[in-house]
Amino acid sequence: MAVKLFNTLRRKKQIFTARPDNVIRMYTCGPTVYKSQHIGNYRTFIFEDILKRVLLARGYQVRHVMNITDVGHLVSDADEGEDKIEKEARVQKRSARDIARFFEMEFKKDIKTLNILPPERFTRATAHIKDQIKLIQAIEKKGLVYRTADGIYFDTSRISDYGKLAPKNIRGIRSGARVALKEKRNPTDFALWKFSPAHGPHRQMEWRSPWGIGFPGWHIECSAMSMKYLGPTLDIHCGGVDHIQVHHSCEIAQSEAVTGKPSARFWMHCAHLTLAEGKMAKSSPETNITLKTLKDRGFDPLDLRYLVLGVHYRKPLLFRWEALAGARSARLKLASFYQALPIKKQRGEDNFRKRIEDAVFDDLNTPRALAAFFAAVRKPVSRSFVLWADHIFGLSIGRRSPIPRNILVLVKKRESCRQKKEWRAADEIRDLLARQGFRVKDTKDGPVIHRI
Ligand code: AMP
Ligand code: ZN
Repeated sequence: MAVKLFNTLRRKKQIFTARPDNVIRMYTCGPTVYKSQHIGNYRTFIFEDILKRVLLARGYQVRHVMNITDVGHLVSDADEGEDKIEKEARVQKRSARDIARFFEMEFKKDIKTLNILPPERFTRATAHIKDQIKLIQAIEKKGLVYRTADGIYFDTSRISDYGKLAPKNIRGIRSGARVALKEKRNPTDFALWKFSPAHGPHRQMEWRSPWGIGFPGWHIECSAMSMKYLGPTLDIHCGGVDHIQVHHSCEIAQSEAVTGKPSARFWMHCAHLTLAEGKMAKSSPETNITLKTLKDRGFDPLDLRYLVLGVHYRKPLLFRWEALAGARSARLKLASFYQALPIKKQRGEDNFRKRIEDAVFDDLNTPRALAAFFAAVRKPVSRSFVLWADHIFGLSIGRRSPIPRNILVLVKKRESCRQKKEWRAADEIRDLLARQGFRVKDTKDGPVIHRI
């Protein structure tokens, strides 16, 4: 069955197939580890996980690399301002290394609770400084760089197709700077290497280079590390939509200038998760919702996963707490249905399997696939069907029953009392459940249990 994916580079859905070795080389831009990741970031990481699971379900092998940005991402994407990690280290009075490792560990724990499959390799920017310097030297050899007082810059006017990933032409792209050009020759030019400032606070993270002491620009790490581990042409490169105009456009320019080959066959981007208050921002406590915020309000990270799967990845997702509560009930409903499912294969399962595959193989239509999954579970289907489907959804339906067996037995008993109109007995069981920390709600699809 063909897999169709929306390729940002071509601005349309295309049939995606593997090369003859059946291996998909996939690179996804990872976290900048200076603060906890917010649920917007996790929307993109969940999208990438679903993509990977769908490719695995299609029978491909996936070689996945994700970077950890632990240096070089400046406060503005404009190659200006302080390094985000150095700034946080200064505020917290800790070393930059401590900050980076702490948030990297937290990220790794978080993705586990979201059932995100880990990449084959995490690559830290600080562990690849030599590779980045080598790549900058190769770009320099092509005559595409120039020097300013604060660094070595890529001259985007020297390549004919700069900005081809972005929907507007080069003149429409806001500059990498979005501030006065200063010594930059073109607004879209970007830093490959920045010099440590001669004045002001001393940088903790700096390295010698052929151009002077300093640190790599933010974009060069992804070009250097993706090519090192996955070769000159990736099969798929992903990130959030905010990366299209600057970060990924710069990556393409750097990599293709050196190799002369396409840097990726497919580019895929996840639309943003937003709040009614506006953009999610790690710098603002009101709009910085993390997994901890969700847990503090009694949610499971998998409720967020369910919510994210309910909206197509190319559509913006407006986050609301009520919608998250809805996602939680739906997930628990699936889990409680699962407990009652038969072991033996049921008639009609193959048809449901096809409906789910058709949906996810059509540019990851997870809302349609979830609807088919729900319909299947009600039919019913066997437990092994649910486990097969959950390889794609990753919702831990069945694997981690949130409701203990004795509670389920009580719920069943209460249901049978209700059917016999033995209301008093049914109420007594309800109170017993409440004392054990469970609330039972009667819906038209049957009873649904929640932890109180
Ligand atoms: P960062 O840690 O800022 O480098 O971002 C990690 C990933 O999250 C990148 O792929 C970003 O494009 C993505 N991202 C950032 N903000 C959002 C958001 N509000 N919604 C969805 N994805 C986002
Ligand atoms: Zn990147």
